[in-house]
Amino acid sequence: MGRLSGEGIVYSAIDVKKWAAEIPSVEMARPACCSRCGAASRPPGSALALEGHGLRERQVRGPSAPLGEPETRTIWVRRYRCRLCGGVTTVLPRGLAARRHYSASAIGLSLCLYGMLRLSVGATRQRVCTWRVSFDPERWTTLPRWIRAIGQGRLFPLVRACPSTFTLRERAERAAATLCALALGAGSSETLAFAGAALAA
Ligand SMILES: [Zn+2]
Repeated sequence: MGRLSGEGIVYSAIDVKKWAAEIPSVEMARPACCSRCGAASRPPGSALALEGHGLRERQVRGPSAPLGEPETRTIWVRRYRCRLCGGVTTVLPRGLAARRHYSASAIGLSLCLYGMLRLSVGATRQRVCTWRVSFDPERWTTLPRWIRAIGQGRLFPLVRACPSTFTLRERAERAAATLCALALGAGSSETLAFAGAALAA
């Protein structure tokens, strides 16, 4: 049976920066319920339903701040196993995007740079992509892939669907504007898209 996108994954309230500085304990990162059967993680008066199932390594690509250098970081994510159904729930820090190598913030930043600030694909890539290989910088297929995933509701599902006549850049612009609107506080559009994306993942 195929797994639906996002199934088995829950997000912690702890953001990726704080998480990377110190891995939260099994108790601190414990999800409220099993992602498969919905059983309460810690039913009152009985044994824990979800037990710690170790850590798993995960790469996070992209800058760790809106104006930061692109980098690849390694973080450890926590896993829990359900004693009732056997399902495994992975807990990710807020700011990661399920099944993406890049952080949600890095994706949000890309959408802002390309869609709102009208940078070229190559200039956007320079700011976000950790690979410095010498292929044609304007041929960065990752950005259109993200924009397509948004259109299909697989990434940042809060973003409204675009008319089919929208260009890639217009789609990126709409997505970035939605992410900016989610951010708390004030700042440049880059800062807002970076922060809003972490909340929208
Ligand atoms: Zn379960």
